[in-house]
Amino acid sequence: MAFNFSKSNLPKQLFINNEYIASKNSKKLELFNPKDGSLVANDVDLAGAEDVDAAVDAAEKAFPAWRKLPGQARREIMLKFADLIQKHSVALAELSRITLGAPIATIGTREPAFAAEAFRYFAGWIDKFAGESFPQDDGFLKIVRNEPLGVVAGVIPWNGPMATACSKMAPALATGNCFILKPSEKTPFAALALGPLIIEAGFPPGVVQVLSGDGSTGALLSAHMRIRKISFTGSIPTGKRIQEAAAKSNLKRVTLELGGKSPAVVFDDANLENAITWTARALTMNTGQICFAATRVYVQEGIYDKFVEGYKKALLEAAKTIGDPDTQSTMMGPLVDKAQFERVSGFIERGKDGQGTLLTGGSRVGSEGYFIQPTVFTNVSDTAEILRQEIFGPVSVLNSFKTEEEVIAKCNDTNFGLMAGVFTQDVNRALRVASEFDSGMVGVNCVSLSFRHTPFGGTKESGLGRENGSAALRAYTDQKTVMINLTY
Ligand code: NDP
Repeated sequence: MAFNFSKSNLPKQLFINNEYIASKNSKKLELFNPKDGSLVANDVDLAGAEDVDAAVDAAEKAFPAWRKLPGQARREIMLKFADLIQKHSVALAELSRITLGAPIATIGTREPAFAAEAFRYFAGWIDKFAGESFPQDDGFLKIVRNEPLGVVAGVIPWNGPMATACSKMAPALATGNCFILKPSEKTPFAALALGPLIIEAGFPPGVVQVLSGDGSTGALLSAHMRIRKISFTGSIPTGKRIQEAAAKSNLKRVTLELGGKSPAVVFDDANLENAITWTARALTMNTGQICFAATRVYVQEGIYDKFVEGYKKALLEAAKTIGDPDTQSTMMGPLVDKAQFERVSGFIERGKDGQGTLLTGGSRVGSEGYFIQPTVFTNVSDTAEILRQEIFGPVSVLNSFKTEEEVIAKCNDTNFGLMAGVFTQDVNRALRVASEFDSGMVGVNCVSLSFRHTPFGGTKESGLGRENGSAALRAYTDQKTVMINLTY
Protein backbone atom coordinates (compact mmCIF):
# COMPACT_ATOMS: atom_id res chain seq x y z
CA MET A 1 0.00 0.00 0.00
CA ALA A 2 1.75 3.18 -1.18
CA PHE A 3 1.37 6.47 0.66
CA ASN A 4 -0.50 8.77 -1.69
CA PHE A 5 -2.64 10.87 0.64
CA SER A 6 -3.04 14.60 0.13
CA LYS A 7 -5.75 17.23 0.55
CA SER A 8 -7.32 15.96 -2.65
CA ASN A 9 -7.06 12.33 -1.52
CA LEU A 10 -7.94 12.33 2.16
CA PRO A 11 -7.81 9.17 4.29
CA LYS A 12 -11.31 8.63 5.65
CA GLN A 13 -11.46 5.03 6.79
CA LEU A 14 -10.39 3.33 10.00
CA PHE A 15 -6.98 1.65 10.08
CA ILE A 16 -7.48 -1.73 11.76
CA ASN A 17 -5.20 -4.78 11.57
CA ASN A 18 -3.04 -3.10 8.89
CA GLU A 19 -6.02 -2.49 6.60
CA TYR A 20 -8.27 0.43 5.84
CA ILE A 21 -11.80 -0.65 6.56
CA ALA A 22 -15.15 1.11 6.61
CA SER A 23 -16.67 1.73 10.00
CA LYS A 24 -19.63 -0.41 11.01
CA ASN A 25 -21.09 2.80 12.39
CA SER A 26 -23.28 4.87 10.03
CA LYS A 27 -22.39 8.20 11.74
CA LYS A 28 -19.69 10.26 9.98
CA LEU A 29 -17.41 13.13 10.92
CA GLU A 30 -17.77 16.49 9.21
CA LEU A 31 -14.72 18.76 8.91
CA PHE A 32 -14.12 22.34 7.86
CA ASN A 33 -11.10 24.42 6.89
CA PRO A 34 -10.66 27.10 9.59
CA LYS A 35 -9.10 29.61 7.21
CA ASP A 36 -12.38 30.12 5.34
CA GLY A 37 -14.96 27.82 6.93
CA SER A 38 -15.24 25.70 3.78
CA LEU A 39 -16.28 22.07 4.02
CA VAL A 40 -13.31 19.67 3.83
CA ALA A 41 -15.20 16.37 4.22
CA ASN A 42 -18.42 15.07 5.67
CA ASP A 43 -17.80 11.36 5.23
CA VAL A 44 -14.94 10.51 7.58
CA ASP A 45 -15.52 7.30 9.50
CA LEU A 46 -16.51 7.48 13.15
CA ALA A 47 -15.57 4.32 15.05
CA GLY A 48 -18.37 2.77 17.07
CA ALA A 49 -18.47 -0.14 19.51
CA GLU A 50 -18.01 -2.88 16.90
CA ASP A 51 -15.02 -1.08 15.39
CA VAL A 52 -13.40 -0.58 18.78
CA ASP A 53 -13.90 -4.27 19.56
CA ALA A 54 -12.37 -5.25 16.20
CA ALA A 55 -9.30 -3.13 16.93
CA VAL A 56 -8.97 -4.56 20.44
CA ASP A 57 -9.30 -8.12 19.06
CA ALA A 58 -6.53 -7.46 16.53
CA ALA A 59 -4.31 -5.83 19.14
CA GLU A 60 -4.78 -8.70 21.59
CA LYS A 61 -3.85 -11.16 18.86
CA ALA A 62 -0.74 -9.18 17.94
CA PHE A 63 0.46 -8.59 21.49
CA PRO A 64 2.18 -11.92 22.39
CA ALA A 65 4.48 -11.85 19.36
CA TRP A 66 5.11 -8.09 19.52
CA ARG A 67 6.17 -8.15 23.18
CA LYS A 68 8.54 -11.04 22.48
CA LEU A 69 10.10 -9.52 19.38
CA PRO A 70 13.80 -8.95 20.07
CA GLY A 71 14.46 -5.35 21.02
CA GLN A 72 16.73 -4.79 18.06
CA ALA A 73 13.99 -5.77 15.61
CA ARG A 74 11.47 -3.53 17.35
CA ARG A 75 13.97 -0.68 17.27
CA GLU A 76 14.57 -1.10 13.54
CA ILE A 77 10.85 -0.91 12.84
CA MET A 78 10.48 2.22 14.94
CA LEU A 79 13.47 3.91 13.32
CA LYS A 80 12.16 3.09 9.86
CA PHE A 81 8.78 4.50 10.84
CA ALA A 82 10.50 7.72 11.98
CA ASP A 83 12.27 7.98 8.62
CA LEU A 84 8.99 7.45 6.79
CA ILE A 85 7.24 10.16 8.81
CA GLN A 86 10.11 12.48 7.97
CA LYS A 87 9.98 11.51 4.29
CA HIS A 88 6.26 12.30 4.08
CA SER A 89 6.34 15.26 6.48
CA VAL A 90 5.15 17.81 3.93
CA ALA A 91 2.07 15.76 3.09
CA LEU A 92 1.39 14.89 6.74
CA ALA A 93 1.69 18.55 7.73
CA GLU A 94 -0.76 19.51 5.02
CA LEU A 95 -3.21 16.86 6.23
CA SER A 96 -3.12 18.43 9.70
CA ARG A 97 -3.13 21.99 8.46
CA ILE A 98 -6.24 21.62 6.36
CA THR A 99 -8.43 21.40 9.46
CA LEU A 100 -6.13 22.82 12.19
CA GLY A 101 -4.84 25.94 10.44
CA ALA A 102 -1.33 25.81 11.94
CA PRO A 103 0.87 27.82 9.55
CA ILE A 104 3.16 26.01 7.15
CA ALA A 105 6.04 28.25 8.28
CA THR A 106 5.77 27.47 11.99
CA ILE A 107 4.42 24.55 13.98
CA GLY A 108 2.60 23.29 10.89
CA THR A 109 5.68 21.67 9.40
CA ARG A 110 7.66 21.16 12.60
CA GLU A 111 5.02 18.84 13.97
CA PRO A 112 5.87 15.77 11.86
CA ALA A 113 9.54 16.33 12.74
CA PHE A 114 8.63 16.23 16.45
CA ALA A 115 6.70 13.05 15.80
CA ALA A 116 9.62 11.38 14.00
CA GLU A 117 11.95 12.46 16.79
CA ALA A 118 9.68 10.82 19.37
CA PHE A 119 10.07 7.50 17.55
CA ARG A 120 13.86 7.88 17.30
CA TYR A 121 14.19 8.84 20.95
CA PHE A 122 12.07 5.99 22.30
CA ALA A 123 13.56 3.45 19.87
CA GLY A 124 16.88 4.27 21.52
CA TRP A 125 15.46 3.34 24.93
CA ILE A 126 14.46 -0.19 23.95
CA ASP A 127 17.65 -1.90 25.13
CA LYS A 128 18.29 0.58 27.95
CA PHE A 129 15.11 0.37 29.98
CA ALA A 130 16.51 -2.42 32.11
CA GLY A 131 14.87 -3.78 35.20
CA GLU A 132 16.52 -4.17 38.59
CA SER A 133 17.98 -7.01 40.55
CA PHE A 134 18.65 -7.36 44.26
CA PRO A 135 21.42 -9.50 45.77
CA GLN A 136 20.81 -12.99 47.04
CA ASP A 137 22.39 -12.45 50.46
CA ASP A 138 19.14 -13.46 52.16
CA GLY A 139 18.89 -16.57 50.01
CA PHE A 140 16.57 -15.10 47.40
CA LEU A 141 17.60 -13.45 44.14
CA LYS A 142 15.08 -10.78 43.22
CA ILE A 143 14.62 -9.64 39.64
CA VAL A 144 12.28 -6.74 38.82
CA ARG A 145 11.09 -6.80 35.21
CA ASN A 146 9.36 -4.01 33.28
CA GLU A 147 6.42 -5.73 31.64
CA PRO A 148 4.28 -4.19 28.90
CA LEU A 149 0.62 -3.71 29.81
CA GLY A 150 -0.94 -5.18 26.64
CA VAL A 151 -3.49 -3.26 24.60
CA VAL A 152 -3.24 0.45 25.32
CA ALA A 153 -4.97 3.47 23.81
CA GLY A 154 -4.20 7.14 23.24
CA VAL A 155 -6.92 9.80 23.02
CA ILE A 156 -5.59 13.12 21.83
CA PRO A 157 -6.74 16.69 21.18
CA TRP A 158 -6.55 18.68 17.96
CA ASN A 159 -3.83 21.21 18.67
CA GLY A 160 -0.83 18.95 17.98
CA PRO A 161 -2.21 16.02 16.01
CA MET A 162 1.11 14.37 15.08
CA ALA A 163 3.38 15.29 17.98
CA THR A 164 0.86 14.38 20.67
CA ALA A 165 0.02 11.08 19.00
CA CYS A 166 3.64 10.04 18.69
CA SER A 167 4.49 11.12 22.25
CA LYS A 168 2.12 8.36 23.30
CA MET A 169 2.62 5.78 20.55
CA ALA A 170 6.40 5.70 20.64
CA PRO A 171 6.98 4.82 24.32
CA ALA A 172 4.02 2.43 24.29
CA LEU A 173 5.39 0.53 21.29
CA ALA A 174 9.00 0.66 22.51
CA THR A 175 7.97 -1.15 25.69
CA GLY A 176 6.10 -3.87 23.78
CA ASN A 177 2.48 -2.71 23.95
CA CYS A 178 -0.04 -2.64 21.10
CA PHE A 179 -1.46 0.82 20.54
CA ILE A 180 -4.85 2.16 19.43
CA LEU A 181 -4.91 5.86 18.55
CA LYS A 182 -8.05 8.00 18.64
CA PRO A 183 -7.30 11.39 17.07
CA SER A 184 -9.55 14.39 17.67
CA GLU A 185 -12.62 14.61 15.46
CA LYS A 186 -11.27 18.01 14.39
CA THR A 187 -7.91 16.76 13.09
CA PRO A 188 -8.07 13.08 12.05
CA PHE A 189 -6.30 13.11 8.67
CA ALA A 190 -2.59 12.98 9.55
CA ALA A 191 -3.22 10.12 11.98
CA LEU A 192 -5.38 8.19 9.52
CA ALA A 193 -2.71 8.68 6.82
CA LEU A 194 -0.14 6.77 8.87
CA GLY A 195 -1.49 3.39 7.66
CA PRO A 196 0.85 2.83 4.70
CA LEU A 197 3.81 4.01 6.79
CA ILE A 198 2.90 1.61 9.61
CA ILE A 199 2.87 -1.25 7.10
CA GLU A 200 6.03 -0.18 5.28
CA ALA A 201 7.94 0.23 8.54
CA GLY A 202 7.14 -3.39 9.36
CA PHE A 203 4.70 -3.15 12.28
CA PRO A 204 2.78 -6.45 12.29
CA PRO A 205 -1.02 -6.24 11.89
CA GLY A 206 -2.78 -5.12 15.06
CA VAL A 207 0.25 -3.44 16.67
CA VAL A 208 -0.67 0.13 15.69
CA GLN A 209 -4.24 1.06 14.77
CA VAL A 210 -6.04 4.33 14.19
CA LEU A 211 -9.72 4.87 14.96
CA SER A 212 -11.11 8.22 13.93
CA GLY A 213 -14.12 9.24 15.96
CA ASP A 214 -15.55 11.75 18.36
CA GLY A 215 -16.02 11.79 22.12
CA SER A 216 -18.19 8.69 21.93
CA THR A 217 -15.25 6.70 20.52
CA GLY A 218 -12.99 8.02 23.28
CA ALA A 219 -15.62 7.00 25.83
CA LEU A 220 -15.76 3.47 24.40
CA LEU A 221 -11.98 3.17 24.68
CA SER A 222 -11.84 4.49 28.23
CA ALA A 223 -14.60 2.12 29.38
CA HIS A 224 -13.30 -0.93 27.48
CA MET A 225 -12.71 -4.00 29.63
CA ARG A 226 -9.78 -5.27 27.55
CA ILE A 227 -7.83 -2.05 27.17
CA ARG A 228 -5.23 -1.90 29.92
CA LYS A 229 -4.22 1.73 29.75
CA ILE A 230 -5.43 5.00 28.35
CA SER A 231 -3.19 7.97 27.85
CA PHE A 232 -5.23 11.10 27.40
CA THR A 233 -4.39 14.66 26.43
CA GLY A 234 -7.21 17.16 26.47
CA SER A 235 -9.44 19.21 28.72
CA ILE A 236 -9.93 18.73 32.45
CA PRO A 237 -13.65 17.81 32.25
CA THR A 238 -12.95 15.07 29.68
CA GLY A 239 -9.93 13.89 31.68
CA LYS A 240 -12.16 13.45 34.71
CA ARG A 241 -14.70 11.50 32.67
CA ILE A 242 -11.94 9.23 31.40
CA GLN A 243 -10.60 8.54 34.84
CA GLU A 244 -14.10 7.76 36.05
CA ALA A 245 -14.72 5.38 33.13
CA ALA A 246 -11.37 3.71 33.77
CA ALA A 247 -12.24 3.20 37.42
CA LYS A 248 -15.73 1.92 36.68
CA SER A 249 -14.51 -0.57 34.04
CA ASN A 250 -11.28 -2.49 34.61
CA LEU A 251 -9.22 0.03 36.60
CA LYS A 252 -7.06 0.58 33.56
CA ARG A 253 -3.98 2.72 34.08
CA VAL A 254 -4.54 6.38 33.20
CA THR A 255 -2.19 9.17 32.22
CA LEU A 256 -3.80 12.60 31.97
CA GLU A 257 -2.22 15.63 30.28
CA LEU A 258 -4.77 18.37 30.84
CA GLY A 259 -5.16 22.10 30.61
CA GLY A 260 -3.21 25.00 32.00
CA LYS A 261 -3.28 28.70 32.89
CA SER A 262 0.44 29.10 33.18
CA PRO A 263 2.00 32.14 34.87
CA ALA A 264 5.16 33.99 33.81
CA VAL A 265 6.78 36.24 36.40
CA VAL A 266 9.06 39.05 35.27
CA PHE A 267 11.19 40.66 37.98
CA ASP A 268 12.65 44.18 37.79
CA ASP A 269 16.14 42.85 37.04
CA ALA A 270 15.04 40.65 34.11
CA ASN A 271 16.40 41.06 30.61
CA LEU A 272 13.38 42.88 29.21
CA GLU A 273 13.82 41.86 25.59
CA ASN A 274 14.20 38.18 26.47
CA ALA A 275 11.14 38.24 28.74
CA ILE A 276 9.04 39.90 26.04
CA THR A 277 10.21 37.48 23.36
CA TRP A 278 9.24 34.39 25.37
CA THR A 279 5.95 35.69 26.75
CA ALA A 280 4.79 37.03 23.38
CA ARG A 281 5.76 33.78 21.64
CA ALA A 282 3.76 31.80 24.21
CA LEU A 283 0.68 33.67 23.04
CA THR A 284 1.19 33.56 19.29
CA MET A 285 2.55 30.00 18.88
CA ASN A 286 -0.23 27.85 17.42
CA THR A 287 -2.48 30.91 17.95
CA GLY A 288 -2.31 30.38 21.69
CA GLN A 289 -3.82 26.90 21.39
CA ILE A 290 -1.07 25.38 23.50
CA CYS A 291 -1.71 23.81 26.88
CA PHE A 292 1.42 25.30 28.48
CA ALA A 293 1.10 28.81 27.00
CA ALA A 294 2.01 31.51 29.53
CA THR A 295 -1.28 33.36 29.64
CA ARG A 296 -0.95 35.04 33.04
CA VAL A 297 1.91 37.50 32.97
CA TYR A 298 2.99 39.19 36.22
CA VAL A 299 5.52 42.01 35.94
CA GLN A 300 7.22 43.75 38.86
CA GLU A 301 6.33 47.42 39.32
CA GLY A 302 9.73 48.90 38.43
CA ILE A 303 9.77 47.41 34.93
CA TYR A 304 6.02 47.23 34.33
CA ASP A 305 5.52 50.28 32.08
CA LYS A 306 8.43 49.35 29.84
CA PHE A 307 7.23 45.78 29.65
CA VAL A 308 3.70 46.88 28.71
CA GLU A 309 5.09 48.96 25.89
CA GLY A 310 7.36 46.18 24.55
CA TYR A 311 4.84 43.35 24.95
CA LYS A 312 2.16 45.34 23.15
CA LYS A 313 4.59 46.21 20.35
CA ALA A 314 5.64 42.56 19.95
CA LEU A 315 2.01 41.41 19.75
CA LEU A 316 1.08 44.15 17.29
CA GLU A 317 3.99 42.96 15.12
CA ALA A 318 2.75 39.37 15.47
CA ALA A 319 -0.74 40.48 14.44
CA LYS A 320 0.71 41.64 11.11
CA THR A 321 1.66 38.03 10.37
CA ILE A 322 -1.88 36.68 10.78
CA GLY A 323 -3.10 35.11 7.57
CA ASP A 324 -3.49 32.11 5.33
CA PRO A 325 -1.71 29.18 7.01
CA ASP A 326 -0.72 27.88 3.57
CA THR A 327 1.39 31.00 2.95
CA GLN A 328 5.05 31.05 4.00
CA SER A 329 4.91 34.57 5.49
CA THR A 330 2.08 33.68 7.91
CA MET A 331 3.15 33.14 11.51
CA MET A 332 -0.31 33.09 13.13
CA GLY A 333 -3.15 31.07 11.65
CA PRO A 334 -6.83 30.87 12.55
CA LEU A 335 -8.33 29.18 15.58
CA VAL A 336 -9.21 25.57 14.87
CA ASP A 337 -12.94 25.91 14.19
CA LYS A 338 -16.12 27.87 14.67
CA ALA A 339 -16.78 26.46 18.13
CA GLN A 340 -13.32 27.44 19.37
CA PHE A 341 -13.63 30.85 17.69
CA GLU A 342 -16.92 31.48 19.46
CA ARG A 343 -15.54 30.25 22.76
CA VAL A 344 -12.46 32.51 22.61
CA SER A 345 -14.50 35.47 21.31
CA GLY A 346 -16.91 34.96 24.22
CA PHE A 347 -14.08 35.22 26.74
CA ILE A 348 -12.81 38.38 25.01
CA GLU A 349 -16.23 40.05 24.93
CA ARG A 350 -16.90 39.23 28.59
CA GLY A 351 -13.37 40.42 29.39
CA LYS A 352 -14.08 43.77 27.73
CA ASP A 353 -17.20 44.02 29.83
CA GLY A 354 -15.41 45.15 32.99
CA GLN A 355 -12.98 42.33 33.79
CA GLY A 356 -9.92 44.38 32.87
CA THR A 357 -8.50 47.04 30.55
CA LEU A 358 -7.97 45.99 26.94
CA LEU A 359 -4.31 46.72 26.11
CA THR A 360 -4.24 45.36 22.58
CA GLY A 361 -6.23 43.17 20.20
CA GLY A 362 -9.74 42.11 21.11
CA SER A 363 -11.17 41.72 17.62
CA ARG A 364 -11.67 39.31 14.79
CA VAL A 365 -9.34 39.63 11.79
CA GLY A 366 -11.11 39.62 8.43
CA SER A 367 -14.64 38.50 7.79
CA GLU A 368 -14.13 34.84 6.91
CA GLY A 369 -12.31 32.10 8.75
CA TYR A 370 -11.56 32.06 12.46
CA PHE A 371 -8.78 34.63 12.88
CA ILE A 372 -8.39 36.60 16.11
CA GLN A 373 -5.90 39.29 17.13
CA PRO A 374 -3.45 38.55 19.95
CA THR A 375 -5.30 40.07 22.90
CA VAL A 376 -4.07 41.34 26.26
CA PHE A 377 -6.00 42.62 29.24
CA THR A 378 -4.30 44.57 32.04
CA ASN A 379 -5.44 45.36 35.60
CA VAL A 380 -7.43 42.14 35.83
CA SER A 381 -8.83 41.17 39.22
CA ASP A 382 -7.75 37.87 40.79
CA THR A 383 -11.29 36.55 40.55
CA ALA A 384 -11.98 37.48 36.92
CA GLU A 385 -12.97 34.67 34.59
CA ILE A 386 -10.29 35.66 32.03
CA LEU A 387 -7.62 35.30 34.71
CA ARG A 388 -8.86 32.03 36.15
CA GLN A 389 -10.05 29.95 33.18
CA GLU A 390 -8.09 28.40 30.34
CA ILE A 391 -9.10 30.28 27.18
CA PHE A 392 -6.98 28.25 24.72
CA GLY A 393 -6.51 31.10 22.28
CA PRO A 394 -4.21 34.13 21.88
CA VAL A 395 -5.39 35.89 25.02
CA SER A 396 -3.42 36.81 28.13
CA VAL A 397 -3.80 38.86 31.27
CA LEU A 398 -1.02 41.18 32.38
CA ASN A 399 -0.78 42.47 35.95
CA SER A 400 1.89 44.17 38.04
CA PHE A 401 3.16 42.98 41.41
CA LYS A 402 5.31 44.30 44.24
CA THR A 403 6.93 41.40 46.10
CA GLU A 404 8.10 37.87 45.46
CA GLU A 405 5.81 36.46 48.17
CA GLU A 406 2.79 38.23 46.73
CA VAL A 407 3.39 36.99 43.19
CA ILE A 408 4.08 33.39 44.21
CA ALA A 409 0.76 33.32 46.06
CA LYS A 410 -1.02 34.68 42.96
CA CYS A 411 0.69 32.22 40.63
CA ASN A 412 -0.26 29.24 42.75
CA ASP A 413 -3.84 30.40 43.37
CA THR A 414 -5.27 28.19 40.61
CA ASN A 415 -6.46 24.64 40.07
CA PHE A 416 -3.93 24.28 37.22
CA GLY A 417 -0.24 23.44 37.57
CA LEU A 418 1.29 22.71 34.17
CA MET A 419 4.01 25.31 33.50
CA ALA A 420 5.42 28.45 35.06
CA GLY A 421 8.21 30.83 34.11
CA VAL A 422 10.42 33.20 36.05
CA PHE A 423 12.50 35.96 34.46
CA THR A 424 15.34 37.37 36.58
CA GLN A 425 19.12 37.68 36.52
CA ASP A 426 19.36 36.68 40.19
CA VAL A 427 20.13 32.98 40.24
CA ASN A 428 19.17 32.57 43.90
CA ARG A 429 15.78 34.10 43.30
CA ALA A 430 15.30 32.06 40.14
CA LEU A 431 15.89 28.79 41.96
CA ARG A 432 13.84 29.86 44.99
CA VAL A 433 10.86 30.84 42.87
CA ALA A 434 11.21 27.74 40.68
CA SER A 435 10.88 25.58 43.78
CA GLU A 436 7.90 27.59 45.05
CA PHE A 437 5.85 27.24 41.86
CA ASP A 438 3.28 24.48 42.19
CA SER A 439 3.63 23.19 38.64
CA GLY A 440 5.07 20.26 36.74
CA MET A 441 7.43 22.36 34.63
CA VAL A 442 9.27 25.64 35.24
CA GLY A 443 11.24 27.82 32.85
CA VAL A 444 13.94 30.19 34.08
CA ASN A 445 14.36 33.07 31.62
CA CYS A 446 12.18 31.06 29.26
CA VAL A 447 8.64 29.66 29.38
CA SER A 448 6.23 27.45 27.44
CA LEU A 449 8.73 24.91 26.14
CA SER A 450 9.48 21.23 26.62
CA PHE A 451 12.07 18.64 25.75
CA ARG A 452 11.67 15.06 24.57
CA HIS A 453 14.02 13.71 27.24
CA THR A 454 12.55 15.45 30.30
CA PRO A 455 9.23 14.74 32.03
CA PHE A 456 6.21 16.61 30.68
CA GLY A 457 3.07 17.01 32.74
CA GLY A 458 1.29 18.92 35.42
CA THR A 459 0.38 19.08 39.07
CA LYS A 460 -3.12 19.57 40.50
CA GLU A 461 -5.85 19.40 37.85
CA SER A 462 -3.35 19.83 35.01
CA GLY A 463 -2.77 16.14 35.02
CA LEU A 464 -1.68 12.83 36.33
CA GLY A 465 1.58 11.16 35.38
CA ARG A 466 4.26 12.32 32.99
CA GLU A 467 5.12 11.91 29.33
CA ASN A 468 8.54 12.09 27.65
CA GLY A 469 11.82 10.84 29.07
CA SER A 470 12.02 7.63 31.04
CA ALA A 471 8.78 8.58 32.83
CA ALA A 472 6.90 7.70 29.66
CA LEU A 473 8.33 4.18 29.65
CA ARG A 474 7.19 3.64 33.22
CA ALA A 475 3.74 4.83 32.23
CA TYR A 476 3.34 1.92 29.77
CA THR A 477 4.80 -0.84 31.95
CA ASP A 478 4.07 -2.61 35.18
CA GLN A 479 6.86 -3.91 37.36
CA LYS A 480 6.93 -7.63 37.96
CA THR A 481 9.02 -9.00 40.81
CA VAL A 482 10.48 -12.46 40.27
CA MET A 483 11.83 -14.08 43.48
CA ILE A 484 14.21 -16.98 43.10
CA ASN A 485 14.73 -19.26 46.09
CA LEU A 486 18.38 -20.27 46.23
CA THR A 487 18.24 -21.91 49.69
CA TYR A 488 17.12 -25.43 48.98
P1 NDP B 1 -11.23 17.59 24.75
O1 NDP B 1 -11.08 17.18 26.17
O2 NDP B 1 -12.51 18.17 24.31
O3 NDP B 1 -10.93 16.39 23.76
C1 NDP B 1 -9.73 15.65 23.81
C2 NDP B 1 -9.96 14.28 23.22
O4 NDP B 1 -10.88 13.55 24.04
C3 NDP B 1 -10.56 14.32 21.83
O5 NDP B 1 -10.03 13.26 21.06
C4 NDP B 1 -12.03 14.09 22.13
O6 NDP B 1 -12.74 13.57 21.04
C5 NDP B 1 -11.95 13.08 23.24
N1 NDP B 1 -13.16 12.98 24.06
C6 NDP B 1 -14.18 13.85 24.17
N2 NDP B 1 -15.10 13.39 25.06
C7 NDP B 1 -14.63 12.21 25.51
C8 NDP B 1 -15.11 11.26 26.46
N3 NDP B 1 -16.24 11.43 27.13
N4 NDP B 1 -14.36 10.16 26.69
C9 NDP B 1 -13.19 9.97 26.05
N5 NDP B 1 -12.69 10.83 25.15
C10 NDP B 1 -13.39 11.94 24.88
O7 NDP B 1 -10.03 18.63 24.48
P2 NDP B 1 -9.74 19.44 23.17
O8 NDP B 1 -9.59 18.50 22.03
O9 NDP B 1 -10.69 20.57 23.05
O10 NDP B 1 -8.28 20.01 23.50
C11 NDP B 1 -8.07 21.17 24.24
C12 NDP B 1 -7.66 20.84 25.65
O11 NDP B 1 -6.53 19.98 25.64
C13 NDP B 1 -7.22 22.05 26.42
O12 NDP B 1 -7.77 22.02 27.71
C14 NDP B 1 -5.72 21.91 26.50
O13 NDP B 1 -5.12 22.55 27.57
C15 NDP B 1 -5.56 20.43 26.57
N6 NDP B 1 -4.23 20.04 26.17
C16 NDP B 1 -3.36 19.59 27.11
C17 NDP B 1 -2.06 19.28 26.78
C18 NDP B 1 -1.12 18.72 27.79
O14 NDP B 1 -0.18 18.04 27.40
N7 NDP B 1 -1.30 18.96 29.08
C19 NDP B 1 -1.57 19.46 25.42
C20 NDP B 1 -2.57 19.91 24.51
C21 NDP B 1 -3.85 20.20 24.88
P3 NDP B 1 -13.30 14.51 19.89
O15 NDP B 1 -12.52 15.77 19.89
O16 NDP B 1 -13.00 13.72 18.69
O17 NDP B 1 -14.74 14.70 20.16
